[in-house]
Amino acid sequence: MIPVAVVTGASRGIGRAIALRLLEDGFCVAVNYIHSKEAAEQLAGDWNCQGKPNRAMAVQADVSQKAQVEALFEAVRREWGDISVLVNNAGIAQQKLFTDVTPEDWDRMIGVNLSGVFYACQCALRQMLPRHAGKIINISSMWGQVGASCEVAYSAAKAGVIGLTKALAKEVGPSHITVNCIAPGVIATDMNQALDTETLGLLREETPLGVLGTPEDIAQAVSFLASPRADFITGQVWGVNGGMVI
Ligand code: NAP
Repeated sequence: MIPVAVVTGASRGIGRAIALRLLEDGFCVAVNYIHSKEAAEQLAGDWNCQGKPNRAMAVQADVSQKAQVEALFEAVRREWGDISVLVNNAGIAQQKLFTDVTPEDWDRMIGVNLSGVFYACQCALRQMLPRHAGKIINISSMWGQVGASCEVAYSAAKAGVIGLTKALAKEVGPSHITVNCIAPGVIATDMNQALDTETLGLLREETPLGVLGTPEDIAQAVSFLASPRADFITGQVWGVNGGMVI
């Protein structure tokens, strides 16, 4: 049986690289998106055309909406059966002074970045617990570890993902399900498009390895955590950040 993975927010950036990596690793992959239908369908279509039919599927769902997340998992189960790996990658960022953050900003930031992880973990565990197997990998951020000025809501949500990871790892460990977290440093994706060249240069200088990360750097780490090589690793926060947070 081909193992099945769900990657949220897989139409672009880090999620796209993770989906491609897991496809190369031999998974069937559900490529979740919210807006980028064309990009998600192209990723899935290109892969399915390479002589590997029905290995990738684009599925629209807003992860902040419980009913949509449930529909996503139902669609995947109907197509391929129970999932083995869940990667909670979908996320949004916002730079704003804390005093300007509105309740709506706050709810959206927590809704996508933290509640989305909660809904998807519950859906995945309904399939994983009866089988006593599964791997959940949450994409947090180094700002969830150390906090970022003008990104309080984002940092709070990502710190929440770290807390969720550790607590859930303890709860489902006896069922042989691992829950780990990756805390990326600065990765060159659309999310950092708003940063000017000077700021990006400063961030590069602050990174001991002297370079910004790539989506593939994160995908390699996910690939390891999703594999049997990581069977004895759970509840960990893995900083893939060029040494920026040590
Ligand atoms: P990105 O390029 O902006 O891509 C975001 C992805 O998330 C897209 O696929 C987007 O789908 C999807 N998405 C956004 N809101 C969604 C929702 N409500 N429901 C479902 N999907 C949704 O971001 P990225 O840089 O690849 O970031 C990926 C993850 O890494 C995020 O959790 C982010 O917080 C984390 N991270 C990134 C960095 C960095 O420097 N880039 C650093 C630390 C952590 P559409 O294309 O359909 O909009």
